[in-house]
Order: sequence, then C-alpha cells, then structure tokens
Amino acid sequence: MHDKNRSLVDLDKHALIHPYTNLANHQRTGPLVIERGDGIHVIDENGKSYIEGLAGLWSTALGFSEPELAAAAAKQFDALPTYHSFNGMATRPMIELANRLKDMVPISDGRVFFANSGSEINDTVIKLIWYTNNILGRPEKKKIITRMRSYHGVTLATASMTGLGTCHDGFDLPLDRFFKCMCPDYYREGLPGESEEQFSERCADDLRKLIEHEGAGTIAAFYADPVIAGGGVVPPPAGYFDRVQKILKENQILFVADEVICGFGRTGRAFASDTYHLQPDVITVAKALSSAYLPISAAIVAPTIWEPLISGSEKYDAFAHGFTYSGHPVSAAVALRTLEIYEERSIFQHVQSVGKHFAQRIDSFAGHPMVGDIRRVGLLGGIEFSSDPATKAQFDKLLKVGSFCSQKCQNHGLIIRNMGDIIAFCPPLIISEPEIDEMFRRFELALAETWQMAK
Ligand code: PLP
Repeated sequence: MHDKNRSLVDLDKHALIHPYTNLANHQRTGPLVIERGDGIHVIDENGKSYIEGLAGLWSTALGFSEPELAAAAAKQFDALPTYHSFNGMATRPMIELANRLKDMVPISDGRVFFANSGSEINDTVIKLIWYTNNILGRPEKKKIITRMRSYHGVTLATASMTGLGTCHDGFDLPLDRFFKCMCPDYYREGLPGESEEQFSERCADDLRKLIEHEGAGTIAAFYADPVIAGGGVVPPPAGYFDRVQKILKENQILFVADEVICGFGRTGRAFASDTYHLQPDVITVAKALSSAYLPISAAIVAPTIWEPLISGSEKYDAFAHGFTYSGHPVSAAVALRTLEIYEERSIFQHVQSVGKHFAQRIDSFAGHPMVGDIRRVGLLGGIEFSSDPATKAQFDKLLKVGSFCSQKCQNHGLIIRNMGDIIAFCPPLIISEPEIDEMFRRFELALAETWQMAK
C-alpha cells in the first residue's frame, strides 16, 4: 500500500521492475528520481540539476520543457483525446503527419505505418516484408541480416536482430532466420596497417560471404542503424555503405535504415540516409519524431513493399496487423508540431552549426592517457577508453572504468551513458555552444577522477 511517509526511493524498490537495470544493484542503490525538466537539464527530487547529455534515451531533441508541444497535446486532448485507425478509420493529425513524413524522407512515393516504439516499428517491418514476400510468391525469402553490436529493439524478433549478447542471454534468443555480419568498427576491428577503405571492403566481403552461405534467395532484408549508437557509437567507415548497398542490390535484398536514433537532425541532416547517401527501401523512425514527448514510431516504406500489400487484400482480406495506438491522435499531433518546430527553428542547420563546436570539444580529449578513440557525427559522439592508447589495450573489465566515469559525471551534474568503456554523448539538439562547453567541462572533471582511479 502507498505509504506517504516512505521515500520515493523505498517505494520504487517496493514496487518496480526497472528496464535495462542491474536489478540486484538497484536493490542497494535505488533510483535517481527525476521530477522536472528545463531546456537541456533535468532536476531530481532533491533539486539537483543535471545536463542530460544523452537527451534521455537518445531521444528528446527539443529538450525537457518545450511549451509548444504541451500546447499541441492539450489542443488535441480537447478535440479528440483518443481514437484508432483500424477498419479504415483515421484522424486529422495522423493523416497530416503521414503526409509530412512521406515528403521528408529520401524514399519516393512511400507509405507510412505507425506504431508506438522503435521495437514495434522494426518488428512491424519484418512482418510487412515477410507478408509481401508471401504475396509475391517467394515464401523462402525470409532471413534477416543485421550487424554485430547493432540495436533494433527488444521484442522477440527485434532482440534477435540486435547484435548485443546482453539482449539474448537468458531470453533463449536469437530466433532462427536472424543472421549477423561484422560490426564496421574500424578502431576495434581494423587490422594494423589497414586503411578505412580496405576495412570497409573487408566488412563488405563478410556480408557477401554470409549471403553466399545462406543463399541470396533466402534473404529478405538487411537492417542497419546508420550510426550504431547503443552498441558504442560507431559511424560507418569510409566507403562502407556504398559497398553494402551495391551487394544488396545485386542480390535483391531490401535495405532498411533504422533511423530511430539518427533520424531528425541528429547527424546534421534530416536523416542519416541523407548524410551517408543511402537509398533505403524502408526508413524506421521513433524517438525524436515527437521529441519523445509521447510514444510514436513510424515506418516509411517504398512502393515495392506497399504495392503488394494492396494486392494482398485479395488473398488475405484485411491486413491483420496494427496496434490499438497506431497513429494515436495526441501522439500524432505532438509529432506533427515537433516536425514543424524543426523547420521553423532550423533545428537541423543548428545541429550543423553547433556540431562544429561539439566536434572541437570532444576531439580535444584526444591524447588524454586513457582515451583510445573518439567517434562523432553531428551531435552524436563517443569516447572509447583504453588502458594504453598506443596498443588499444582494454582496461580490466573488473575495474568498470566506464561506469565509474558515468557515476562521476552524475556527481558533477551530467547524465551520460557508458556502454562498457565507451562513453556516449547525445545531447538535445537545442543545446547551445556554452552548454556544450559546460557539458564537456563536467565530463573533464569526471575523467580526471576516473584516471586517478584507473592508472
Ligand atoms: N532502433 C534503434 C536504433 C534504437 O536505438 C532503439 C532504442 O534505443 C530501438 C530501435 C528500439 O526503440 P524502443 O526502445 O523505442 O523500442
């Protein structure tokens, strides 16, 4: 029972199972309870303010206190707080949002399907592609290829696509039909003396061999998060996607760009597909679509996928896929306003401009005795620690250098995320240059303490 005299920390431990949390440790440490937001800052229950260096979960682009989004939600709540889109029903915000999205992406004459999360939308796309291939009379073309260390979600299928062992261990995953090729991490996987282009060629070769081994006729799609974020901030090496796309075309394998993190300006252009000259058949988006103020995700699919769906109705009758909240009117209204704000305030251009400052600041950590590699694009960056940058040696895992640093950052009023010994930065896109300076100043304090501990 709720006891007003117990602290929120106690009540949390009393009632919650936290996602992506070491639950045993959590019993000792408890939660950090966040109560308010202000621009790029969040404020905890004790009034302490933090720069949110990861925009929540790589998600809020407009920060934590955008009144226009609250107003858009309130207006839609007044008009029509909920409705669905099954059986041909629709609402105005959903229709307008679909049209806006369709015009934004580098896919010509696409169609839009809505869901609520990145996992749901990536899962949906697998189903769309399998369904289409059944309609087209190629029931054997079903396998899905992703990259090691990629992240695509947590449903049974999308966790199977995710190339991180932690998402499989204990869950009896991955399912069959899901295959992985090499992670294009030049720093960790590149061989001594190998150029970035040569490394990209080796990655492409690994994909080619996998396709040959499995048989191109059995492979439906290749999914890539253009910059691997959750797997350690890995932008593509030079020439990588040119090679990959050529192989996919030659083998008639669909290309899905998972832009759940990269979409809407994170890399300095509307989509990472623009930044890296990709021609995907499908783009999936979520997170910054509504600045993460409400759950909503979408897939924009090319005619090669949506046209067969229409003829499929003759065979299967209703297209029997969808969620109660697909295209929820309040989420859609907030997403629509978010996209308008991106344009009205030139947010993507802002990323390009402050992105230069972000680059300078993060690059200034090169040469630090425990910094092995720095990777970045737009307002997304990663610093990988090494116990000996000259040899790229890794720290003893037991030292937990990355999580130590992340904890120290928190003490200094900066929330960032460590993936092992890689520290990720992904601030709200509205961050200013002085705020970038302050974010890295706090990180620098934490880094000095981490170095004291680790050296
Ligand atoms: N795809 C990518 C690239 C992601 O980074 C994420 C989540 O971080 C997902 C999919 C899954 O999104 P969700 O957590 O909304 O299910």
